[in-house]
Amino acid sequence: MAEKILKIANSITVGELATVLDLSVTALIGELFKNGIAATINQRIDFETATIIVEELGLDVELQEKEAVAAERRTHELTDNATLRSPIVAVMGHVDHGKTSLLDAILGQKVADGEAGGITQHISAYQTVRNDRTITLLDTPGHEAFAALRQHGATLTDVVVIVVAADDGVKPQTVEAIRFARSANAKIVVAINKVDKEAANPQLVKTQLATEHNLNPEEWGGDVVMVEVSAKTGQGVDKLLDMVLLVADIEELKADIDVPAEGLVIEAHMETGRGAVVGLLVEQGILKPGALLVAGTAYGKVRTLHDFLGKTAKEAGPSTPVTVSGFKELPQFGDVFEVVKNEKEARTRVQAVRQEREKATASTNVTGADLLKRMTQEHEGQDFNVIIKADVQGSLTSVIDSLKLIDTGGEISLHVVSSGVGNITENDVRLATDGKTVIYGFNVSLPPAVKRLATRERAEVRIYDVIYELLDNARLSMEAMLAPEIVDTEIGALEVKGVFRTMKDEIIAGGLVTSGKVKPDLLVRMKHGNELIGEAKVTSVQREKTNAKEVFEGDMCGLNLEIQKKVVLEVGDTLEFFTREVVRRTL
Ligand code: GDP
Repeated sequence: MAEKILKIANSITVGELATVLDLSVTALIGELFKNGIAATINQRIDFETATIIVEELGLDVELQEKEAVAAERRTHELTDNATLRSPIVAVMGHVDHGKTSLLDAILGQKVADGEAGGITQHISAYQTVRNDRTITLLDTPGHEAFAALRQHGATLTDVVVIVVAADDGVKPQTVEAIRFARSANAKIVVAINKVDKEAANPQLVKTQLATEHNLNPEEWGGDVVMVEVSAKTGQGVDKLLDMVLLVADIEELKADIDVPAEGLVIEAHMETGRGAVVGLLVEQGILKPGALLVAGTAYGKVRTLHDFLGKTAKEAGPSTPVTVSGFKELPQFGDVFEVVKNEKEARTRVQAVRQEREKATASTNVTGADLLKRMTQEHEGQDFNVIIKADVQGSLTSVIDSLKLIDTGGEISLHVVSSGVGNITENDVRLATDGKTVIYGFNVSLPPAVKRLATRERAEVRIYDVIYELLDNARLSMEAMLAPEIVDTEIGALEVKGVFRTMKDEIIAGGLVTSGKVKPDLLVRMKHGNELIGEAKVTSVQREKTNAKEVFEGDMCGLNLEIQKKVVLEVGDTLEFFTREVVRRTL
């Protein structure tokens, strides 16, 4: 039995998990990283990942999943009228194993067309047709997307295509994808990619999957479909789609169409002139313009409806991704949307969700002291990760060398994740989606398609044509990472002449101000000789029985001191008064 049982929601941010486990955020992020998950403090991880991390850390803690709050997802019970719907397929896998290339190979010209319209640049859901049948494809950009999908729509993904590069084999994010698919109860189809490469070894990939992850290929008598493909040459791509459809057929996927529309928010952003632009994936019912929608804490009437290519649509049925405008504010990624009858119902629903969410955050609130402690811990040995691209080798070398000269006293280490000559590429962006890597470009450009990807993946790209400006920016970024300094300023001292009452959380005492001054709100060090016996805060100061704003050296006064734990203060002890500030440091 674990010593401690902690209840957490089925998805939790890294910061919140660090709080409940009483760990530093850095330690937690480090452990996640070792497990192939590049997470930032605000990123959500799912319950299962949290459990694994707790085990790996060897903590004597058992995590239990909190009951989901009532305002969260209700599962839709299919009626007898339910009809067949298209499968929803998530394409996942380790970085650089060819997810994007495979999606491109499947979608052909279509994505590019849509993007040219400027409508779908943020949408990560697409559709393709194979043998007159539609397949909906989800591009899950990162771990956050996995976690949100799991929290709100585990039922959303029917099939997970796990892309494994035949020349690289199973990697941490492959394992993560397998775990996601299993927790979401989705069928797995493995795409063994890059088989055109000389170093490709599909058999080895199959062996790894079978022996280490219990995914047994059909051809070896198992039940997992594995297709050898090349996103580059197109080999096997059609077969992969056929297999996806076959696996989906066995599931007999259905949805209701004659019910009010509902589904999931898969994207949300503000656009000038259009307001909130929201990507939705319809799961049940048929969504039409004019419908009044509620999603999380946002609601609004559908003003425009566009399909994934950016074309105006009259309606959208189950398994269809669409973009709508008309929401009054932005819902969150992963929120469930539903059609409601009138504004009154919309407002009541939104209010209920808001209250539930406030309650949920209130219970994980942290005290000031905890926060200070964590702020300081978090800053121990941080990495500043950069990717550098420059126009010519000479400038590349000098940018890197100059960056390395920025001295942070060893506190921050600059880590060049990758560097090269030439424009910023999609690959650079993909390496920088962890929220802690910055791409610096010197005299290079950011092609529009790469820019769109960077916006979608929230990768930080900074381009300069003056080297000093680039270096200044890097210095400022590193400064922002330095641990804040705690500065105590001495204000005065007092010799205790009388202790009138000592309670659990308060001491009332009096004495002579021997230097400086004393006033309410100052912090106090209580000393017996040279020994520190405790800390306190002045809550009020009295002089001749009335409250005083300040009392100066040479005068007697009475004090109320707030204490955290009981202290025995005696006549003759010294009180030292001071203020404490947390100051940002500069380099
Ligand atoms: P992602 O990070 O999983 O989205 O991977 P990408 O689709 O960006 O691919 C990473 C790199 O592998 C790119 O340079 C692709 O051109 C290359 N690549 C992807 N698929 C194939 C393939 O089937 N064959 C070969 N030779 N290269 C591929």
